[in-house]
Amino acid sequence: MSDCLFCRIVAGEIPADTVYETGTVLAFRDIQPRAAVHVLVIPRAHHEVLAELAAVDAPLLAEVVAAAGEVARLEGLHENGYRLVSNVGRDGGQEVAHVHLHVLGGERLGPVAVPLS
Ligand code: AMP
Ligand code: ZN
Repeated sequence: MSDCLFCRIVAGEIPADTVYETGTVLAFRDIQPRAAVHVLVIPRAHHEVLAELAAVDAPLLAEVVAAAGEVARLEGLHENGYRLVSNVGRDGGQEVAHVHLHVLGGERLGPVAVPLS
């Protein structure tokens, strides 16, 4: 998907601050961090919606979740905990239509959902 921002990061066309990678998964720092630690974990393959990825390639989804756990360990979040977030669609606040988990932590986080208005 040449017009997908995260596919372009996977292809190396846009630089990213990579913190962890495997043959199937990439994890890099969010360009606009919303917590002391804010890392995005994505499958290298293009999928739009987390639940759809579960339906078509459950092993890949498991690799994404395992990678998020590895990121938490590397970033020192595993003792105090962290939050995994996946925004879906417009109301969910999804800006990039390529499956990603936000790994958030490094500080005590507030309520899980804050409406815009
Ligand atoms: P979402 O709103 O769940 O789709 O999350 C998309 C995330 O991608 C946002 O938190 C953005 O700050 C982040 N983002 C956008 N462009 C980049 C980029 N070039 N490198 C890293 N993160 C990015
Ligand atoms: Zn993509």
